[in-house]
Amino acid sequence: MTHPLISQLTLEEKASLVSGASFWTTRSVDRVGIPAATLTDGPHGVRMQAGESDHLGLNASHPATAFPTAAALGSTWDPELVEEVGQALGAESRALDVDVLLGPGVNIKRSPLCGRNFEYFSEDPLLAGALGTAWVKGVQSQGVGASLKHYAANNQETDRMRVSAEVDERSLREIYFPAFERTVTQAQPATVMCSYNKINGTYASQNHWLLTDVLRGDWGFTGYVVSDWGAVVDPVAAVAAGLDLEMPSSGDRGPAAIVAAVKAGTLDETLLDQAAERVVSVHERLRAARGEQAPKSVAELTDAHHALARRTAAAGSVLLKNDGGLLPLDPAEGGRIAVVGEFARTPRYQGAGSSHINPTKLDDALSAIRATTTRAVSFEPGFTFDGSNEEALREAAVKAASEADVVVAFLGLPDAEESEGFDRSHLDLAPVQTRLLTALLAANQRVVVVLSNGAVVSADGITDAAAVLEMWLGGQASGLAAADILFGAAEPEGRLAETLPLRLADTPAFVNWPGSDRKVVYGERVYVGYRWYDTIGRDVAFPFGFGLGYTTFEFSDVAVTVADPKVAAAVVEVTVTNTGDRAGAEVVQVYVADPVAGVDRPAHELRAFSKVRLAAGESRRVRLELDERAFAYWAPTGWLAEPGEYLIEVGASSRDIRHTTSITLDLPAVVPVLDEQSTYGEFSQHPQGAKVLEGFVTGLGAAGAMFSDPAMTAMIDDIPMRNVISFGGVSDVEGTLAVLLKDAAQG
Ligand code: BGC
Repeated sequence: MTHPLISQLTLEEKASLVSGASFWTTRSVDRVGIPAATLTDGPHGVRMQAGESDHLGLNASHPATAFPTAAALGSTWDPELVEEVGQALGAESRALDVDVLLGPGVNIKRSPLCGRNFEYFSEDPLLAGALGTAWVKGVQSQGVGASLKHYAANNQETDRMRVSAEVDERSLREIYFPAFERTVTQAQPATVMCSYNKINGTYASQNHWLLTDVLRGDWGFTGYVVSDWGAVVDPVAAVAAGLDLEMPSSGDRGPAAIVAAVKAGTLDETLLDQAAERVVSVHERLRAARGEQAPKSVAELTDAHHALARRTAAAGSVLLKNDGGLLPLDPAEGGRIAVVGEFARTPRYQGAGSSHINPTKLDDALSAIRATTTRAVSFEPGFTFDGSNEEALREAAVKAASEADVVVAFLGLPDAEESEGFDRSHLDLAPVQTRLLTALLAANQRVVVVLSNGAVVSADGITDAAAVLEMWLGGQASGLAAADILFGAAEPEGRLAETLPLRLADTPAFVNWPGSDRKVVYGERVYVGYRWYDTIGRDVAFPFGFGLGYTTFEFSDVAVTVADPKVAAAVVEVTVTNTGDRAGAEVVQVYVADPVAGVDRPAHELRAFSKVRLAAGESRRVRLELDERAFAYWAPTGWLAEPGEYLIEVGASSRDIRHTTSITLDLPAVVPVLDEQSTYGEFSQHPQGAKVLEGFVTGLGAAGAMFSDPAMTAMIDDIPMRNVISFGGVSDVEGTLAVLLKDAAQG
């Protein structure tokens, strides 16, 4: 239904509405009372620029809370907590008069090298989609729109503005789309942001299949599609494809081209009407949802949001190793603690690029540690980010380490090594840091490594430390959160949302990364992340879903119920018990495997999860639901769940499956579609085709014998019927094939 105002607008006014007014605002049409709206980054804080605008995070913005980045949020596996963060982001957006906050980023971490992985949740589409949904619900609960980005197949920064992601539809539907799909269907983001790149040769910004057929047709998206900043190449083709708002302003270029195209009859005006209407209606809906009440200021929200940022950073931190229960440290008793590493006093807590926030506060780990413990604490920077003065700094750190009871070494990736706009070329920490670590390990056996990085780094050397705590880029309160975990005021509740491989060469996209000649081939197809490592049985440093806590958990009494085997659905129940002596959290992970499938499928796939917080000794019955999609793969005809056996695995990581239950689904058999290229085998699997085939073979007499010889079946199965007919000595091959197909279709 068209918005009543649209019919009152001139062609020029409509065209002006689908292209921005400035870097961050849309155009108003004062004559009819359509106000401008403000869109701004996102995703882990509100980057409302105070002066000069840019999309690279270069210029100053108003202070806002820098929440943990998506890398840390992903590791929380906690949609409720992410929704709370979303609410806080929405509240600060209101405070800064922002209509649409540009996030969340739900692109899949195809390779750990992607410079922007810190802005994405996971290598797994279910986890990314569940957290994206929660983020959007939280932000939008405040009457602020979200912008789900970057749609789609934007999985690298190299050549991101023109590279063509060459990716088959099954991989898009199973891996790269579901996080977008889930977020759209379950949270209806106000806007979706199309990516810069091409998909199979067509820019996302002018890809009708992507923006209209799939997004609106298949998923029922009701908001508007905004371009990534500068992603529109041809403004007319963009509107025709289903793009509604070009950002930032292209001056008159976009509107003028659209007006000219409508006048020339090369762009249907109703498509422009639709785009303008979507932009106007979405902003109107958002304004109505906000109501009249004046929002709180950022200053009023700061303390509560800093506390939330702290809690969230702790919840997303992953304890990778803890030999001999070295952590948590006793805050009151014990010898000197040597804190080492520049990151302890100069925290890296957010990523570089368009998401760069001007934080309201910033807590470094060194001060937080000193404020938490009464033990003696020494500090040595150990290295500089530019590698200067290496030997002297290392020697001082080693001396401090040798005099301490325990060493806490803060290592990680500085901004210069990881950012939006470029990819990493390796997984290693800077040599200045690895050499320092080797020296520290030689000086003291009790070394705790605390990592700040937006994507996984090589485990080499790090795993020689007694304890390893991955803090990711944990936001402005991550220093406090690190101290909370180190001294046990908080539990390390995070679980890996991305696999930590042993070697870069083991990673699924290794030989196809980052492409060449303006193309990147997604040759690993659906085998992304653990789907790859677990299918090919490759050892990893730390598997997907892994994380230690300060307590232990047991899973028992697993029950898998299939209400009706003719329906692809099941309910999994499991009792989770905290068997340790501290409160803590565990993530129950349910993977589904299809051991005998008509197509190649990953060894298993995460299909449900639940985060459970339990007091010491406490037990809870957890219920998880599996729907049809949990069993299905994408076939050329659409989603398809085959009949037969499925394994339902309940575990604590993709490599720590504790219980496996076999179920059998009595679903309709998969019937092959018969056409001119169908094989003998496909005819024989088709109920009517098999009968037709039988008649045909009998009709061949002696020549047909070879087709019914079981020893020959494997070879014959793959021969197209056309050839079978010819080999059978029939002269009218095409005519006979046509008759067989007609008879088979008449079943
Ligand atoms: C980024 C987007 C961002 C936009 C506006 C682009 O370069 O890819 O994620 O929202 O700039 O800053």
